[in-house]
Amino acid sequence: METADDVTRMRDVTRMRIVGGSLALDYVNTRSGPPDGPPGDDILHRYDDLVAWAGGIGLLDHAEVAALRRQAAEQPARARAAYRRALEVRELLDGLFRAAAMGGQPAAADLTRLRDGAAEAYAHARLVPGAAGFRWGWPGQAELAGPLWPIVHAAVELLTTGPLDRIKACGGCRFLFVDESKNRSRRWCSMEDCGTAAKIRRYVARRAATRAGAGG
Ligand SMILES: [Zn+2]
Repeated sequence: METADDVTRMRDVTRMRIVGGSLALDYVNTRSGPPDGPPGDDILHRYDDLVAWAGGIGLLDHAEVAALRRQAAEQPARARAAYRRALEVRELLDGLFRAAAMGGQPAAADLTRLRDGAAEAYAHARLVPGAAGFRWGWPGQAELAGPLWPIVHAAVELLTTGPLDRIKACGGCRFLFVDESKNRSRRWCSMEDCGTAAKIRRYVARRAATRAGAGG
């Protein structure tokens, strides 16, 4: 049964902007906040939030969302463990790709952890027909850890086939994204949010400077 709390959470989770250009980065971007320092807001407060987010971006269909929610309600301890694991994976991807965005190398221990996560993900995967051949898929899976598997897979893809040199950190917030612009000039997670905020800041600064100049 859906409570008012569920509806609010669903709205919060699904209005999250999807700007990363990779599922792995969109997952990292479930935490927001300033570009430097610790993250501010987190939309993942408990296991159900992960399911709501995955459903909202189309990673899970309605039936999968319902099945996982049911299972989480029936097995709260396992759901809490899956939630903790989800946060660990997000921390791992955050470290890996933030390093890439800064032009650094990922830590060897992080690569090992990603390999281990991938081994688990592929152990549960199926090869399913795709547009140009077969691809990894997790259709109809109903495991509590399941939403993480395609995310880990996306992280491996991004790390192995790139473009790693196009991963950037937003100039106005902590979001990461793949810069797919032709001249690699993208600076903001989205023009409507951080881009506009930066424009307003520049405008206010210019006005203040003009006024200070005029005032003598
Ligand atoms: Zn931003």
